[in-house]
This record gives sequence, structure tokens and C-alpha cells, in this order.
Amino acid sequence: MYEPQWKRPTSKAEALAVLGDVGEDAVVVAGGTDIAPLISKCRIRPRLLVDISRVDDLKLLNVGPGSKGGSAAIGAMVTHGALARDEGVSEVAHVLAAACRTVGAPQVRARGTIGGNVANASPAADGAVALVALGASAVVESDGNGRREVPLPEFFLGPGQTVLRPGELVTGITFAAPSSVARSAYRKAGQRNALAIAVVSVAAVHEPEAGTVRIALGSVAPTPIRATEAEKLFESGWLDASDRAELLGAVAAAAARDASPIDDIRASAWYRTVLVEVLTRRALEEVCL
Ligand SMILES: Cc1cc2nc3c(=O)[nH]c(=O)nc-3n(C[C@H](O)[C@H](O)[C@H](O)COP(=O)(O)OP(=O)(O)OC[C@H]3O[C@@H](n4cnc5c(N)ncnc54)[C@H](O)[C@@H]3O)c2cc1C
Repeated sequence: MYEPQWKRPTSKAEALAVLGDVGEDAVVVAGGTDIAPLISKCRIRPRLLVDISRVDDLKLLNVGPGSKGGSAAIGAMVTHGALARDEGVSEVAHVLAAACRTVGAPQVRARGTIGGNVANASPAADGAVALVALGASAVVESDGNGRREVPLPEFFLGPGQTVLRPGELVTGITFAAPSSVARSAYRKAGQRNALAIAVVSVAAVHEPEAGTVRIALGSVAPTPIRATEAEKLFESGWLDASDRAELLGAVAAAAARDASPIDDIRASAWYRTVLVEVLTRRALEEVCL
């Protein structure tokens, strides 16, 4: 019978010390919404589970009007539900609140954490896609090697793969809070309207004063990605564009070229490419016009 050992640290320092001691043998459990199904289906059999759900130092949330134009910080154990409900997050980083509102069902949002969403490294992870559009970094800490901030596009190596080394923990997320005039949006298409993993998702953050936009795409590459060619086209044309709606159409078409989707059980690559263009255009119309 499978009987893993459990450790339940109650502080960040204790969690890092436990992970430092046991290294590769340990698997972190945050909300458990990704990992518990894997264990119950016998896909993984970790010998040691480190449950970080009692670590209050990882539940701090500093995203509010005070952080506008400054730095925003979210603890790894903050849940999707908390981010979806938080007024400061809605005001400063609307795209993140909107993305978290689309995650699973209320039960999943009550347990699932932003740290788990990022560390799980699914290309479809809603919170992660919004964070990529916000230009966020994962804060990674360990007992021996201190603290580093890894920009999310570098943090993800592939589906389920990250730069995390044994003994390391994602302790939080940080990003430069968008300016007070910035606007952001999240668009997601799934196989149904609720409790659905994204077939395609698009997150956009527009900074009107700078004439820039950041566009992130989910479920169309091995990791969440930035639509870099689309962003460049926007930046080269936005301030002078005589027909901005036409420019947004061209930017959306460029985003579809930035994507490299595959056929899978949820959708074909062709359909995903079409969806990227449609959802990007809708997101851009919401934040730019
Ligand atoms: C029914 C259902 C519906 C879902 N719908 C969606 C959806 O619509 N959108 C979506 O994005 N996701 C969805 N998910 C997936 C899941 O809920 C999210 O990815 C969630 O954010 C995972 O967080 P967690 O705290 O539960 O992670 P866990 O399951 O606890 O951990 C996930 C992985 O990350 C690692 N990990 C967790 N926290 C850390 C940390 N701080 N540092 C290092 N490693 C860590 C764990 O070891 C594990 O490998 C769904 C899941 C279920 C069961």
C-alpha cells in the first residue's frame, strides 16, 4: 500500500529547511488540485510530500492602488479565489483577476494557488498566462542558495518543466505594477463555458502613454508565450496609426503567426490558430479602443 510521509512546515524558513534536507525525494503540495489527481491516478508516487498550505508567510498579497507604477508582490500560496475577489488586484492587474475567475470551479479556486499554477508549468495555466502579460517573475528561494527572481518566460522550460532545482520553492510572484492609465484584458476559449481548460487563452496589457502592449498566449506552444512579433507591430504603428481598428486586426493576425499550436484531444492546430487571431483582436479592442 502507498503510504507517503508528510511534512507540514508552518513557516517559510521551516519549509525551505525541510526541502533543503530532503532535496529530490520531496514533492511540494500547495492546494493539491494538480498533484492530488496525479497521485490518486498512480501517475506519481512521491515518498515525501511537503504540504506548504500552513505557511502563512506565503499568503501575503501586495497588489493595490499603492503599488500602481511600483512593484506588486503575490505570495505563492495566494489562491485563485483570493486573486479573483481582491479589489486591489482587479484595479491594478485586472487581467490577473479576470484570468483567475476562469479557473475551474469555486472549489478549485478556493484550493488552487498561483504558485502551484506557475510551478505546474501547464501551457494552459490561466494565472500563468496573465502573469506573462504582466511581465512577472517567479521568486525562487532555497535554504542554501538564497533568492532569485526568474522572468516567467525563462522559468518555463516545457509542459510540466521549469528551472526549479531540488530544494527550491516558488515563494511568490513579482511584477512592476502597470501605470494608472494601463488597461488589461483576458480572453479564454474552452470546450465549454465553465470548468474548462483553455483551448486558447490571450492576455493583453496596454500602456497607452508608452504606446506599448504585452500580449501573452496560452495553449498554443509548449509554454505560455509572449506574442513578440505582434507586440512589435503594435509598437511601431500605434502612435501614428490613422486607422487603429485596422492596425489591431493586423496585430491579431501577427499573434496567430507567433503561435505554434499542435493538434490534441481538445482542438486542432488550425482551430487554435483561428482562435488566437479572434481572441487577440477582441482583447486588443477591449484595452485599446
Ligand atoms: C477540476 C479542475 C479544474 C481545473 N481547472 C483549471 C483551469 O481552468 N485553469 C487552470 O489554470 N488550472 C486549472 N486546474 C489546475 C489547477 O487547479 C491549477 O493549476 C492550480 O493553480 C494548481 O495549484 P495548486 O496549489 O493546487 O498546486 P498543487 O497541485 O499543490 O501543485 C502543482 C505542482 O506545483 C508544485 N508546486 C506547488 N506549489 C509550489 C511552490 N510554491 N513551489 C514549488 N513547487 C510548487 C507541486 O509540487 C506540483 O508539482 C484545474 C484543476 C482541477 C482539478
